[in-house]
Amino acid sequence: MSFTFHVPTRVFFGTGCIQENSAELARWGQRALIVTGRSSARTSGALDDMQQALDRQGITWAIFDRIEENPSLATVESGSAAARAHRADMIIGIGGGSPLDAAKAIAALAANNISARQLFDGAFAVQPLPVIAVPLTAGTGSEVTQYSILTDTESRTKRSFADRSVFPKAAFLDARYLHALPAPITINTAVDALSHAVEGYLSRRSTVISNMLALEAIRSFGTVMKALSQKTFSPDDRERLLYVSLLGGMVIAQTGTTMVHSLGYSLTYFRNIPHGRANGLLLAEALRFAEPEVPEKIAAILAALGLESLDALKDTMHLLLGPEEPWTPEELETFADIALLAANIANTPKVPGRNDLQQVLINSIITA
Ligand code: NAP
Ligand code: FE
Repeated sequence: MSFTFHVPTRVFFGTGCIQENSAELARWGQRALIVTGRSSARTSGALDDMQQALDRQGITWAIFDRIEENPSLATVESGSAAARAHRADMIIGIGGGSPLDAAKAIAALAANNISARQLFDGAFAVQPLPVIAVPLTAGTGSEVTQYSILTDTESRTKRSFADRSVFPKAAFLDARYLHALPAPITINTAVDALSHAVEGYLSRRSTVISNMLALEAIRSFGTVMKALSQKTFSPDDRERLLYVSLLGGMVIAQTGTTMVHSLGYSLTYFRNIPHGRANGLLLAEALRFAEPEVPEKIAAILAALGLESLDALKDTMHLLLGPEEPWTPEELETFADIALLAANIANTPKVPGRNDLQQVLINSIITA
């Protein structure tokens, strides 16, 4: 047996975890820049709780609340200017994956004299500022990953940088902040979390430890499938989804994602399909493509979900994710070509070629 496992984030999970652990914040800095989207940090109550915790610890704070969905390079550059203006020594991301990923980028840019595009070049000369994460969606697991995914209009896709130095130092997961998350976003993000667990389980870089976490995440997702299809969520369901998302993040931190995410980026970039939904629309057919290579793993995934077949998984995804998304022949070519350039495609158990990717897209059309 041979593996490495690395998740350096101190995870606080449960109701009231920010209030109860405010002393953790003082370990990382004295001048915080809080990075959020436009409204959910406020409406969820998370921003209030964080501000009170920072005040209690005597930590000065400022807010940068301009992170859009799928954050752009320009936005993280403005955020880093705000961090410098505040002389921030730590960055606190509060939000879905978009503000959390932006917080990581801002932490690196604020410490290094580089442009946002240079984030993709690798190693930073100066250690990024410490990042603290408060997820407000249950999906990306960004609170426990070294990834930041940004939209690069020049290369017409989403690109990620990965660096151990941007793993959040601490993450606070309180499911109360998700109580008003609209059902469509709850579902899309939950499917992203499932996709992380499934892709991580299949990844060529999977290990015994990541597989254990992945199967636990997939089983837990199975227990909330009914709530997802009924679109009503109890506090327990919310907490369970946050747990799935956390585990999914720990998995992909080890394994990376696969062709599902590689193709999904184009669905988001060109068609504005939310990230989790993009993955979910492709998931069953991507598994069908992988099945001859790893049949026992596909069987284990279906068993963990309590589903009989890949067709049942496809039906479930379509029930959850709604109307069809037919693609044009030109789109098939563009999406496949862009996916071939994505680094994560190499993690797929049977690495797809151009035709394979187009076929997965064709097969994923819900109805003709
Ligand atoms: P998101 O883009 O962060 O947010 C989507 C929407 O949900 C926003 O309108 C946001 O509003 C709203 N929202 C968030 N939390 C809410 C809450 N608690 N209550 C009500 N509304 C809420 O969504 P996401 O799916 O979590 O993140 C997607 C991004 O993460 C993509 O860029 C994706 O590529 C990336 N990602 C990263 C990783 C990683 O490992 N780092 C993995 C997978 C995906 P506000 O704008 O007001 O906040
Ligand atoms: Fe994802």
